[in-house]
Order: sequence, then C-alpha cells, then structure tokens
Amino acid sequence: MTDYNKIFKKLGAVQKGHFILTSGNHSDTYVQCARILENPKVTAKLAKELIKPWNDQGIDIVVGPALGGIILSYELARPLSRRNSGWQRKGIGLRHKIKAMYLERVDGKLALRRGFMVPAGSKVIVAEDVITTGGSVKEVIDVIEQQGAKVLGIISLVDRRPAEPQPPAEAGDKLRPDYFGEKDNQIFGIKYNSIIQVNPPIYPPDNCPLCKKGIPTEKPGSRGLK
Ligand SMILES: [Zn+2]
Repeated sequence: MTDYNKIFKKLGAVQKGHFILTSGNHSDTYVQCARILENPKVTAKLAKELIKPWNDQGIDIVVGPALGGIILSYELARPLSRRNSGWQRKGIGLRHKIKAMYLERVDGKLALRRGFMVPAGSKVIVAEDVITTGGSVKEVIDVIEQQGAKVLGIISLVDRRPAEPQPPAEAGDKLRPDYFGEKDNQIFGIKYNSIIQVNPPIYPPDNCPLCKKGIPTEKPGSRGLK
C-alpha cells in the first residue's frame, strides 16, 4: 500500500515547525498543497485514486474554489472524461464532455465567472486542496445548488479538519459547528474523501507551548494571497 503521508512529507506538503495559521492560531504543522500540485504526475496519480468512487456515477462537472481547487478539479475531471455520458444520456443534446471549472471571489463572494455554466440537473463534484473548516466548500456548494445542480461528492487532497472546535480567531468570528460530530466520510451531509488526514494540535496565540519555548514563528499562509 502506498504511504501517502510519506509522499506529502517528502515533497514538503506537510511541514513541521512553528506556524501562525490564517486563523491567527499557532500550530506545529503546516500544510502546503502547492508542493504536491507542482508535480503533474503525482497530482494525476492522487486524483485518479480520489475520483475512483465516482467513475461510473455520471458526473458532469468537477468544480473548486480558486486557487486551491483549480488544478485538483482539472486532474479529477480528466480520468472521468472517458467514462460516462451524462448529458448525452439525458438527451440534453450536448455531446457529453466532463468539465472542470472554478469559482473566484467577486467582492468577497465566490462566483462563477468567465462564462462557466452549470446546467440545472448537472451532477457535480466539489474539489479543494485542503479542507479545514469547509467554509469555501460550503460557499461553492451554495452557488452550485442555486443553479439547480446537485453536489454528489466533496474531494480534497488533505483533510485538515481539527479534532476539536477551534477558538474564534477574532471577535465576531463564529465557530463552524456545522461539520463537527459528522461522520469522517461526510461534510454537510455530502460524501467526502481525501488522500490524507492531518489533525495537528492548534494553540491560541496567548497559550502556545511553542511560543513558551521561544521557537521563532513562520507565517506561510495568507488569505490575502489565496
Ligand atoms: Zn506559538
């Protein structure tokens, strides 16, 4: 069996140190999926593995939030494209071609742009590189469902959902209790699969054992850049 954790560490996608996360909390582990996604052959192999359960389910579209979901959506759609005939079978009149799309932020909200179309009745998979709170994924699901399409599955490279609810990063931030307590293989009641799970300890900045040891911090992630 392939040791995926080893691959992620070797390629630098899972890093150890002392990190300030985008939430403001601290952790000894940082996940950087770009270190996986910069390797086309590795990405294709992982995507093929992840999409297996959906090979014969008539999926029409794989879509993710920019930037994290773009490359993964594309690689997930590729092996599917030879396998099913959803739109053709349903008589919509288009020769079926599976599509890979992405949503971008417009005034802070994820939206379909560039003429991307999700026809009503489409069967959709939502893809993201790392899922932590599932916030972006929920936004994508809402947009897709507004089009009258159905999200059948969620896929990510890394499942980084914390084992316990995290403290809010700042006043006004709400905890997202909506996914806690669900089965591991579901988010928002939708079937979910990932390649690896990373559940590092998360510390509030005023009570971080790594800070107390005086270990210098790194701030590798930034929502502004994402
Ligand atoms: Zn710290």
